[in-house]
Amino acid sequence: MKPLNLFLCVASILFGLNGIGWAQKKEVVALQPLGKFEPQLLQQITEGITARYRVEVVTLGKKPMPQEAFYAPRNRYRAEKILTFLDHVPERSFSKIIGLTTDDISTTKGPYPDWGVMGFGLLQQRPCVVSTFRLGGKKVSNRLFLERLVKIVNHELGHTFGLDHCPQVGCYMEDVKGKVKTVDNWNGELCAGCRKNPLLKGIVK
Ligand SMILES: [Zn+2]
Ligand SMILES: [Zn+2]
Repeated sequence: MKPLNLFLCVASILFGLNGIGWAQKKEVVALQPLGKFEPQLLQQITEGITARYRVEVVTLGKKPMPQEAFYAPRNRYRAEKILTFLDHVPERSFSKIIGLTTDDISTTKGPYPDWGVMGFGLLQQRPCVVSTFRLGGKKVSNRLFLERLVKIVNHELGHTFGLDHCPQVGCYMEDVKGKVKTVDNWNGELCAGCRKNPLLKGIVK
């Protein structure tokens, strides 16, 4: 074997092994508390995520809400601008980042130029954002509030892994359609169809 061929052969074996290593490596999900988000919720969110996804969850230091995302006419923040902010968070040792806020967030949806949402995430992107503003707060039990929060976090995370909205009633990838009742109706798990999505291979529990 010529030296060059030998080199290419060794290089391809090494590259192949490396490829296997990447495939087995756990995705790292970063929680990014923004503004007044309560740090004591981070542990429960971590447990909620790892109950559904085979990922490692890390917590980043709190940051102020990005003022460039503030939408003065409605006194709330534009979700897509928060995603841009999160995409520029300098720590790169994670594959996903979830912004967590108590402020109301909004986006443009159909005929509505500024539609309030509980969370926002785009397919196969690194960042997503979740807001507690529409989850009932002190008006509902702590258990229900947490349940809603974890479901929305797992829903937005699902989008970042590539899952689109699911027609199966009760699956947490079902479209919320602006109603917290939809969230309460989710059973907290992915349906069989979503679980089979090849994009979730090695990630779904
Ligand atoms: Zn969604
Ligand atoms: Zn589903």
